[in-house]
Amino acid sequence: MKITFPHMGTTYIPVKMMLDELNIEAILPPNSNKRTLEIGTKISPEAICVPFKIITGNIIEGIELGANTVFMLTGCGPCRFGIFSCLQEEILKDIGYPVEFITADRFSNYEGLKEFIDRLKEVSESNSTIKIINTIRKGYKMLHEVDELAELTNKIRPREVRKGEVDKKWFNFENEIRKTYGYKAMMNIINKYRYEFNNIEIDQDKDCLKIGLVGEIYTILESYINLYIERKLGNMGIEVVRMASASEFVKEQLDFIPFLKSDKKKIYRAAARYLDIPIGGHAIHTIGNIIRGTNEGFDGFIHLLPFTCMPEIVAGSILPTIEKEQNIPILSLVLDEMTGETGYMTRIEAFIDVVQKRREIKNEGKRLYWN
Ligand code: SF4
Repeated sequence: MKITFPHMGTTYIPVKMMLDELNIEAILPPNSNKRTLEIGTKISPEAICVPFKIITGNIIEGIELGANTVFMLTGCGPCRFGIFSCLQEEILKDIGYPVEFITADRFSNYEGLKEFIDRLKEVSESNSTIKIINTIRKGYKMLHEVDELAELTNKIRPREVRKGEVDKKWFNFENEIRKTYGYKAMMNIINKYRYEFNNIEIDQDKDCLKIGLVGEIYTILESYINLYIERKLGNMGIEVVRMASASEFVKEQLDFIPFLKSDKKKIYRAAARYLDIPIGGHAIHTIGNIIRGTNEGFDGFIHLLPFTCMPEIVAGSILPTIEKEQNIPILSLVLDEMTGETGYMTRIEAFIDVVQKRREIKNEGKRLYWN
């Protein structure tokens, strides 16, 4: 069995490691790129959200590299994510790619977790339940480590003395880890690069603007669709904080385990004044994280959402009220396959200009440079 799976930021690193550990051949599609989006868009329903189109493109690129099975998460709920895998299976059959789909439901209790373990057991018959549990534990740890590494780069990038050093090292990191096999070797690479990032020379005294990224989780994590916004802002001298991460997302699913406490309750509590019904996707997180962030020294927020994403459209309609009541600038950026880089950057630069002026007023006129 040769398994492929779609990208969502750097989640491919722990997923590949888990398949390696279970002795299943993992076929890693190339990082999402122009071609991925083009082939996915060609065969997807026109009005569906852009994550579906890119994920479909990832799957096709995985099949082209020899995969015969697709591993996907699924789940029921008010957003379209729940129908992704069955729709993709039908579309691929129609165009002559008869691949098997193995899906695992998102879990939120012990029964769901057991089902997930059983699905992995089906895929890797030769492995014991203990081995699978151990591999999931390693996967969770690695997911955390990679997210922390990305957070570290977002802190260092705006302060680096030699421009481009973080980006160069991150490029090398991804290149190396893609070619590495198994938990131990991959953790060594992560530790090596953590050390290297921590040793980049930075300007300790640089006062940077702090911007939070909120919105639909896939759009925040998948750099190709958000046009590498973290890198762009960081290179402009702005500290970016992702307000959603894959490790926090998984932690929320595992929240029922007593020693694993996520921020979900705090986020829901913070959002309740504006939105108190789960409407799918990350809508409540968008609202809750902005409210929490306004008390944590953020200068502004950028809200990322795919065109036609229903939960984020609802969240977006509440943001002007929050902007006024909480006195915090928020920019909403709608993304799809038609997004042009020039217009996108113009809006970001205009927004940063406003945020910078506000900070200067707060700092009693002290000039603050952001590029
Ligand atoms: S949250 Fe929005 S963009 Fe993401 S899968 Fe659901 S509908 Fe699509």
